[in-house]
Amino acid sequence: MNDLQQLRYMAEDLSPTERMPLLFLGHGSPMNAIEENIFVEGFRNVAPTLPRPKSIICISAHWYTRGTHVTAMPHPETIHDFGGFPKALYQVQYPASGNPALAVETQTLLEPATVGLDQQWGLDHGAWSVLRHFYPEADVPVIELSIDYTRPADYHFELAGRLASLRDKGVLIVGSGNLIHNLSRVNFSRINEVGYGYDWAIEARETMNHYLLEGNYRPLTDYLKLSDAVRLAVPTPDHFLPLIYILGMQQKGEPLSLFNDQLVAGSLSMTCVKIG
Ligand code: ZN
Repeated sequence: MNDLQQLRYMAEDLSPTERMPLLFLGHGSPMNAIEENIFVEGFRNVAPTLPRPKSIICISAHWYTRGTHVTAMPHPETIHDFGGFPKALYQVQYPASGNPALAVETQTLLEPATVGLDQQWGLDHGAWSVLRHFYPEADVPVIELSIDYTRPADYHFELAGRLASLRDKGVLIVGSGNLIHNLSRVNFSRINEVGYGYDWAIEARETMNHYLLEGNYRPLTDYLKLSDAVRLAVPTPDHFLPLIYILGMQQKGEPLSLFNDQLVAGSLSMTCVKIG
């Protein structure tokens, strides 16, 4: 992008809009990209309630890096970052364009944190498996922001807050992960059984939902201290931290609601959060 294009972008794409909502999306199995089920139906039901975004920033559980990076290529590739799934899933393409100028703007807003402009990544399934149900035409530009695995949750909460102003410029910010995500305990024989959760998963979901709906996020950024159930639900931070980004961008008085709030396969939840 040359200087003239950059200026044009600043003038047009970052003009004020109504405030965009925030989404945390439980993505679950990559198969949700191509299957028909109540969760993709839930995505499709929420999609028309959103103002049309000019661009999307996705914080995906599957881009978990040392340091923070933002995709800055004009045409991100669709990354099939999984193994052992049917061929049809590998054939899915999500040809949304990138937005290099928004990547630069994101980098600037996140200062003094150092953010790398990435030309290698693309859109991983944390992004495309859900976004294709919201914008099937792939006609909204998407950039991804990585999650720095060297940093604790409260750092991510504070970092996210620096991006909040983009919501007033037509940018939809989407976290994609799973609040309860313990793959080593998944019951694969009951993988498609909606509402099936182990006792600890039921307890962890209740605890998380309680703090979410109360607007009390401090216990969530300090989740390891909550309970044995929550520690089992979040054995690693990668799928949980995208939620923390979304919470960090909430403005005073904004409503929070849940959808797709179901357990599956014993040790996963598909709970999604909408703010605004
Ligand atoms: Zn995942």
